[in-house]
Amino acid sequence: MTGIKEDFFALLKDMTLIPALSGYEEPMARYLKDAFAPSVREVSIDTAGNVIARIPGSDAAAPRLMVFAHMDQLGFVVRRILEGGLIQIERLGGIPEKVLPGLRVLIQGEKGQAVSGVIGAKSHHATKAEEKYIVTPYTELYVDIGASSKNAVQKLGIEVGCPVVYQPGFEKLQGDRVCATSVDDRGGCAVLIKLAEYFAEHPPKSTLYLVGTVQEEFNLRGAMVAASRIKPDAAIALDIVISCDTPELKERSDLCLGGGAVLGMYSFHGRGTLNGTIPHPALVRLFREVARKQAIPLQRSANLGSLTDSSYVQLVDSGIPCIDLGFPARYTHTPVEVCDVNDLVSLYKLLVAGLGEVGTGFDFSRVV
Ligand SMILES: [Zn+2]
Repeated sequence: MTGIKEDFFALLKDMTLIPALSGYEEPMARYLKDAFAPSVREVSIDTAGNVIARIPGSDAAAPRLMVFAHMDQLGFVVRRILEGGLIQIERLGGIPEKVLPGLRVLIQGEKGQAVSGVIGAKSHHATKAEEKYIVTPYTELYVDIGASSKNAVQKLGIEVGCPVVYQPGFEKLQGDRVCATSVDDRGGCAVLIKLAEYFAEHPPKSTLYLVGTVQEEFNLRGAMVAASRIKPDAAIALDIVISCDTPELKERSDLCLGGGAVLGMYSFHGRGTLNGTIPHPALVRLFREVARKQAIPLQRSANLGSLTDSSYVQLVDSGIPCIDLGFPARYTHTPVEVCDVNDLVSLYKLLVAGLGEVGTGFDFSRVV
């Protein structure tokens, strides 16, 4: 396992610098496909754009397992181009509006080039005292690319609907911590790549499908397309979990950076989706036991307010046993998400041990 932390740093750096708004995942799909290629013979891309790597198992009767992480990230699309060259934006995904004024963004023009811009912020010198603590709704914000006419913007290939993301950034902080855009969920994608490398060398009993999914930040349902094609016997989602080791969140849970991989015991999002995941008990048992046996640090999460695409995958066809596994991240959905690479290593080890255990006769029955 020497060098695994360095591998994760390198993968995170590569992938967090790739812009891939929900619905525009092609650059990440290309990266993931190429990253899988040296280890996996069968890599395909489905109708929705999910990247599927298949690693055949040694035991044809063993359950088929799907492990997935979303390739997309949240952001905006161009809503309207004003005559003076400023650009209004529509949000795509769970954007925290209070961090937006003053941010750098990247617009993907239709002519193929990426155009840098900034989200304008009212000049501080002209801000009244009573305005200082008010969050400006995104509908009142605009992107400034330096152009002074609508025509100049359109000449760059920027039109209504073009994708806009936070200016990609990657920074190594102290210790083994990383600050980057879209740690959610390039961290999960990095784990998929390392799993492909491991299982290419150590063939599993079960056939594994490692899947980079699309549109999680948009409607959470892109992974359903992959799941209904693969028809796995169980599916495992890899994603971020909210780290609560900062002053503003310390009352919420004990989840912390560096505390290890996370077993998702409960997620629910009441605003809009009315969905969430209560994990399949056989999968909870599996990962709890391997963590104990292998002394892999494992935290547990029971969290209201967020969910992953597993909540929809579990309902595909006649039902797929699901679980969320993850790693803690701070400042989620902002451009400065922070994670600790040691947690990615724990998650990787947990999956290596857990997936390797599943063979013929693995019992998914609910009631025995
Ligand atoms: Zn995510």
